[in-house]
Amino acid sequence: MILVTGGAGYIGSHTVRELRERGMDVVVYDNLSTGHIESIGDTPFVKGDLFDVELLRKTFREYGVDSVIHFAAYSLVGESMVNPAKYYHNNVAGTLALLDAMLAENVKYLVFSSSAATYGDCGDGLITENSPQNPTSVYGQTKLMMEQFMQDYDKAYGMKYVALRYFNAAGAHASGEIGEAHNPESHLIPLILQVSNGKREQINIFGDDYPTHDGTCIRDYIHITDLADAHIKALEYLKNGGKSTYYNLGNGNGFSVKEVIDTVEKVVGSPVKKQVVERRPGDPASLVASSEKIQKELGWKPKYDTLDSIVASAWKWHSTHLDGFNK
Ligand code: UDP
Repeated sequence: MILVTGGAGYIGSHTVRELRERGMDVVVYDNLSTGHIESIGDTPFVKGDLFDVELLRKTFREYGVDSVIHFAAYSLVGESMVNPAKYYHNNVAGTLALLDAMLAENVKYLVFSSSAATYGDCGDGLITENSPQNPTSVYGQTKLMMEQFMQDYDKAYGMKYVALRYFNAAGAHASGEIGEAHNPESHLIPLILQVSNGKREQINIFGDDYPTHDGTCIRDYIHITDLADAHIKALEYLKNGGKSTYYNLGNGNGFSVKEVIDTVEKVVGSPVKKQVVERRPGDPASLVASSEKIQKELGWKPKYDTLDSIVASAWKWHSTHLDGFNK
């Protein structure tokens, strides 16, 4: 039985769906502070906080949990810069509480959602797992701290983990039934699509004076179903006796903010109103992954390998769910 923390969130709910489509047993643990209960259908669910060690322990025992996929975290770079306390408390202290509960109940396997934000500014080359980790944001710092805990918990207590450093998660489930629905929305692709679907006036481009080919930030967008698949492969690897490790997850292609807007205009077939505004604090100029390590070691390969296909899947959701999960 797999416990998925943050399983009602964007990446969590898509992973839960994939796990269940493959016949695996899942229980979702989420406090619904940002997640949507509608996104998990009839999956067994426990409403709880990471800090509630007693409830976590009880859930582990009741459901016979042997492994955890840990998504529950705040994840906004901008917000983390103005409210670091929220990020250190929830992400860092919350993860320690989860690890306490796992140790107490002898739950040994953990797949953990880390982030490209742990790298910070690495220039414009491909980022490998050996690139230096110098986060430029508090959010990235919290994810790096969590990785460090896990290393130490493996050494001291034999807890086995895989940290997956995602680049920019995007897109929606092929069915169009679940997708990205943050409130307020802050991610680039859904924000642009909200201009396309009439929910938003314009897209603000955060800075066009970065050292990139068109001056806007470059990111590596990876489809949510490909991310979900990587979590499952990582868990299977651990259960088959694999050593603790970490992997980048991206497509290996960088797209600038302007190129993402162009792609949306092409896929949707209508122009998007845009305006260049100030830079957003904490944003590195370019983050593009080398995912060779996970491709080689776990046989993972992204199925959505073009930005067009990722945007098209997101549009299927945003064009039919103007208010996200609200009816
Ligand atoms: N971005 C932007 N306008 C927006 C939201 C985001 O220009 O309204 C840029 C942001 O500065 C970053 C990229 O789009 O360079 C992706 O941002 P997002 O918040 O989607 O993901 P992050 O890279 O922070 O994980």
